Amino acid sequence: MSASFTPTPTPTHTHTNKPHSRWSDKQSKVLGDLAEEFSVSTSQLERLTTAFIDQMQAGLAGDQKSTDLAMIPTFVSGRPDGHERGSYLALDLGGTNLRVCLIALKGNNDFESHSKAFKVSDHLQEAHISELMDFIAISIRDFITSEHISSKIVEHPSGSETLELGFTFSFPVTQTAIDAGMLLRWTKGFSCPGAVGNDIVQLLQEALNRNEVNVHVAALVNDTVGTLLAHSYKHPNTFIGAIFGTGTNGAYVEDTRGIKTMTTPTTEEMIINIEWGNYDKDKRFLPVTIFDNKLDRESINPGVHVFEKMISGMYLGEITRNILLHLIDQRLLFDGTSSAKLNQHWSFETKYMSQIESDTSVTLIPIAQILEQDLGIYLNTQVDREIVKFVCQLVGKRAARLSAMATAAVIRRGLSVEGRLAGHGYPLKLSQGDHAIGSNVNKNGTNVHESTDSVVNQGLQPIHVGIDGSVFEHYPHFEERMVEGLTELLGPRTKDIVVLGIARDGSGVGAALAALIATKNVVYSR
Ligand code: ADP
Ligand code: MG
Repeated sequence: MSASFTPTPTPTHTHTNKPHSRWSDKQSKVLGDLAEEFSVSTSQLERLTTAFIDQMQAGLAGDQKSTDLAMIPTFVSGRPDGHERGSYLALDLGGTNLRVCLIALKGNNDFESHSKAFKVSDHLQEAHISELMDFIAISIRDFITSEHISSKIVEHPSGSETLELGFTFSFPVTQTAIDAGMLLRWTKGFSCPGAVGNDIVQLLQEALNRNEVNVHVAALVNDTVGTLLAHSYKHPNTFIGAIFGTGTNGAYVEDTRGIKTMTTPTTEEMIINIEWGNYDKDKRFLPVTIFDNKLDRESINPGVHVFEKMISGMYLGEITRNILLHLIDQRLLFDGTSSAKLNQHWSFETKYMSQIESDTSVTLIPIAQILEQDLGIYLNTQVDREIVKFVCQLVGKRAARLSAMATAAVIRRGLSVEGRLAGHGYPLKLSQGDHAIGSNVNKNGTNVHESTDSVVNQGLQPIHVGIDGSVFEHYPHFEERMVEGLTELLGPRTKDIVVLGIARDGSGVGAALAALIATKNVVYSR
């Protein structure tokens, strides 16, 4: 790259209002190199997608040696279609908060929910598992008491006297039944001893019994599975549930014939928890930078969940902080001066990136406020603020494109011969160089946009992707950047067919639906 290179954000996301004409040659050069390092080209995305699909296949075949994707069968068969009724407790543990909910499924794709959040302290995230489980049991009791819930007032299809609970537990678990699962490893900052290798449902049920809380744990679901189920309650064709929050992961609907690890499948389809946060942990394909490696090395779980560490809310701010310090140390930012706050590990929250990227003013004064109030950087020029925003854009955009890659890979798997979408004739690209089947290109080579209506008229169902998580919901341009990446991978018809939707409260409603499926012992096969 030449020294005169002037980095400019890609045109679709140019919200900085001026070219960076005031940047010094050195600033332009170093930031240009960073831009190069953090950009993921279409052909790189293609390579990553192919490897992702190969790893999915290896996981489904039980070949755990050649894959980082666990591809865990969830024992959740079929999907709800919105007619289900009943009230259930739901519990969501997966990040900073524990949430207890009461969900009333009303049928007609409608539900009501009440919930209460309890903060899981840093101490509890590292305490012995029995201490964490006691805390959960007591929180459930607190919720039941404060909301005056009893099994009497709960409309209960199974006629059970106990309150039935669905547990959304967002850590890697191998399941042996809908209500049994062994923790494989902790992620996202948790490290409670006594849990890995043990059945999470049993640990919780014991704590409930110990604390005399009359609740039965009916189902254990991952948050991705809960998100898929909940979205399916509103959009019965939901194919993927994905999380872009503290961590990232996805679940999808697989044809049971494709699951080689299940010898005698009794249903046509089953939801698979991919555990995609662990994709390519050996960094054979992912474009990791020194900033990612530093973060990984200093994390609580080095060498695993490398993909998650490039994408999710827990980490994006820290990658950005690492880059900012690298620029400061070369005197290219803040005149070479950091602050005690910025020097502190994890001090730069992903939320700041959202706020910084949202600032489209010329002088970037809102960014100055974040730098001053949240980070103690009092001397910052407009050039400094432009650079900070530029760095956030690099990290945020890479995260969205990698998220698109995982989503596209799962859709391509679905479209493959053994997958659940096979034979639906979706006019999407299946591989690099493939021309989207039936894509409508006019004489000038530009695509003629067709509406979802015409897709439906052609007998095609849209592919719904239910998404939960603050990063997807609040990070500016995250969705738009994801759609751009998806379109590069799946072709011009993507916007007509792939529908990304926010599945708010996915873990609550989804867990309730899983408890319903488990207690009614109903298999919703389609
Ligand atoms: P969880 O994944 O724990 O269920 P969330 O989906 O709310 O919870 O994700 C929390 C993560 O999202 C945190 O890592 C936090 O840094 C990040 N986050 C919170 N607010 C924002 C925001 N406005 N923009 C981007 N990321 C955010
Ligand atoms: Mg969540």
